[in-house]
Amino acid sequence: MYKAGSPSASRSPAAASGAARETGDRTHVPQRTCIGCRKKDDQAVLLRLVRVSMEGVNAVRVDQDRRMSGRGAWLHPELACLRLAVKRSAFPRAFRGAVGITDVERWFKALEDVPTGNGFKTVQPESGSEI
Ligand SMILES: [Zn+2]
Repeated sequence: MYKAGSPSASRSPAAASGAARETGDRTHVPQRTCIGCRKKDDQAVLLRLVRVSMEGVNAVRVDQDRRMSGRGAWLHPELACLRLAVKRSAFPRAFRGAVGITDVERWFKALEDVPTGNGFKTVQPESGSEI
């Protein structure tokens, strides 16, 4: 994946002399800073958050497909980082103003309680006194 700037990209193979392009430079992974722990990490492992406006209210959404436009921020998909971000007021800072993060919280909540299907729940009602 590379961007060819010239509109008249001549596809003549004669120019291929070094074959440097085929080596695949792996060090070119974009780095982003987590707004929670503020550590840099590969863009691929971070969760993209984007600000959306709904009826004049700004809210943060989890942009899982990374296709939404708008002001974005990055966060590790870890509850610890979310907590840190909240604690540090990273959201209003990253999005330049007050934003609702209900959507993000919901996303993290869904992460936590992974659906266990029809698992056997061995939750027993309190049966009074033990013998
Ligand atoms: Zn983090």
